[in-house]
Amino acid sequence: MNNKFIVGVTGGIGAGKSTVAGIFARLGAGVVDTDALSRQLTAPGGGAMQAIREHFGAAFIGEDGGLNRSAMREYVFNHPPARKQLEGLLHGRIRDAVQAALQAATQPYVLLVVPLLIEVGSYRPILSRVLVVDCDEALQVQRATARGQLTVDSVKAIMAAQTDRKTRLRVADDVIDNSADLAHLETVVRALDQQYRSLAAGTA
Ligand code: ATP
Repeated sequence: MNNKFIVGVTGGIGAGKSTVAGIFARLGAGVVDTDALSRQLTAPGGGAMQAIREHFGAAFIGEDGGLNRSAMREYVFNHPPARKQLEGLLHGRIRDAVQAALQAATQPYVLLVVPLLIEVGSYRPILSRVLVVDCDEALQVQRATARGQLTVDSVKAIMAAQTDRKTRLRVADDVIDNSADLAHLETVVRALDQQYRSLAAGTA
């Protein structure tokens, strides 16, 4: 997979990673999303479910056979070592799924969306470039809470636990400023798509 042109995409909560990836995908880029792969692994019949059942017990399995996310969220919140165990159980499986998805991709270049790209670090060696999606923190809170699942306090707590904005921007090869509207975002993504196509083809 190392000969593919792979762009790592990261950014804080609510910055617009999924939205950006969706526009790139529409323009013909491949998209591999580690959060989506993680959700698949813990969905009914997912590749991590047997190990989760064995390690944590049936109390964390929902009626449909998938992960009981609210029970697990509460448990790992109250038992920090359990979070590490869950991550340990998922990490290798996510990596394997990423590798398979990258290998299967036939597009001219592939975006690898990793919310914790900087924190985790282990994806960096396979990336041709790092693209950071950025907007100011007030806008991040506004957009992340508008979806209705998280409160302002919980979004701020997540932001406090994530790499700070300055550090993230320092490792970026490219930055998308997602402070304006979606039409502007589309224009910016179109320009980057052209650039990535040229770089991937070795014509830049
Ligand atoms: P998370 O880290 O929580 O997964 P994310 O970085 O993937 O978030 P998105 O889900 O893409 O962020 O965007 C967060 C919310 O903000 C979404 O509801 C999205 O529709 C909206 N949004 C993203 N960009 C813009 C924009 N430029 N203008 C208006 N709304 C936007």
